Amino acid sequence: MAVATATYQEKTDEQKAITEMVRQFVDNEIIPVAEEFDHEDKFPEAIVEHMKELGLFGVTIPEEYGGMGLDMATYAMIVEELSRGWISISGVVNTHFIGSYLLMKFGTDEQRELYLPRMATGEVRGAFSLSEPEVGSDVQGIKSTATEVDGAWEINGQKMWVTNGLRSGLVFVLVKTDPKADPPYRGMTCFICEKEPGQSEVPGLTIPPKIKKMGYKGVESTELVFDGFKVDDDHVLGGRDGIGEGFKQMMDALELGRVNVAARGVGVAQRSLELALRYSQERKTFGKPIAQHQAITFKLAEMGTRVEAARLLTMKAARMKDAGQRSDIEAGMAKLFASEAAKENAEEALRIHGGYGYSKEYEIERIYRDAPLLLIGEGTSEIQKMVIGRKLLERNKI
Ligand SMILES: Cc1cc2nc3c(=O)[nH]c(=O)nc-3n(C[C@H](O)[C@H](O)[C@H](O)COP(=O)(O)OP(=O)(O)OC[C@H]3O[C@@H](n4cnc5c(N)ncnc54)[C@H](O)[C@@H]3O)c2cc1C
Repeated sequence: MAVATATYQEKTDEQKAITEMVRQFVDNEIIPVAEEFDHEDKFPEAIVEHMKELGLFGVTIPEEYGGMGLDMATYAMIVEELSRGWISISGVVNTHFIGSYLLMKFGTDEQRELYLPRMATGEVRGAFSLSEPEVGSDVQGIKSTATEVDGAWEINGQKMWVTNGLRSGLVFVLVKTDPKADPPYRGMTCFICEKEPGQSEVPGLTIPPKIKKMGYKGVESTELVFDGFKVDDDHVLGGRDGIGEGFKQMMDALELGRVNVAARGVGVAQRSLELALRYSQERKTFGKPIAQHQAITFKLAEMGTRVEAARLLTMKAARMKDAGQRSDIEAGMAKLFASEAAKENAEEALRIHGGYGYSKEYEIERIYRDAPLLLIGEGTSEIQKMVIGRKLLERNKI
């Protein structure tokens, strides 16, 4: 029998080097200050500046536009590391990543040349906007419109929950250009709205104060109130050919976004496990560390298993995307499993910390408030189950 000599490699040498660099950055610069920023709901300006220097805004943008040109799997590894520190930091990058993906895949040459180099450096940051006060899951039900007036477009309507809504310079906004279209998705178009970062009033657009949230603090989520915001055809994603294509473009980007959120779930689940492992070996009850009580050992075992399973599902979905394969089921499964794993691990780690888990002195208190966001963004768990179930049936019709 031949003796196996190869060792199992989860990452290439390049991926190891990049994730190690990001992990050091997170351990040194994010974890020590995350609670302070969270408690004050303050934007981490200095951290974001350092992220620009590290090139983290251009990870997936091709080298010809000044980015690193890395694949989705490597991007997911980076997102896991950032979220392990604080999901709000990955939130600053994630909407930007979706915006740059939309441009790379659906933008005209001129749009790519105009925006991608400035996005790669982080000079201009991206956000995306589908949700409205009355619509989240049912995207085809959105009410905001763009109407052609004298050869230009006028956008009207109210958008909700736009992460990076204030500080972004580009918002990819989905609206209806033909509200009577049947089915409705045929009448939807994505516009690239340029605005001055940090400015809450620009002609035709008002950005009210940020929404107060349970967790996911520091990074702002805002409404966008459009009232006659004017853009020309150059700002239709994909140019005039993009009219009526917005729903498909956004759904494609959201498939990728689900891998993105899954990677965040892995990071949160991983950090919860680390905190539980440490605390359970320090804290003693009934004469021994609590880790030695079987009830706690079993919790640790389940938490560790969830992290591994979530990571594998996420990597499979990312690698399928990199291989150009359809990965709607896999991205949905990864998002569903990893976000639930994050929430479960956060809760188990909090329980393991006993009363201290409920104290703002401990990191797990913040993570417990941050984790549930992952169950909602980029499609709730219920919506993931609908998509996975429907696709499974389509693929296995008898
Ligand atoms: C902090 C934060 C940041 C966000 N950032 C962004 C962003 O940057 N851009 C953006 O566009 N949006 C963003 N969102 C919005 C997010 O995508 C929506 O909240 C999400 O899609 C759910 O929509 P909803 O809140 O309207 O819930 P609803 O769609 O009203 O759903 C309410 C409940 O009903 C369930 N439900 C709905 N339909 C069905 C069904 N057919 N079958 C079974 N159950 C169903 C849902 O699972 C949920 O439990 C953000 C949200 C939050 C909280």
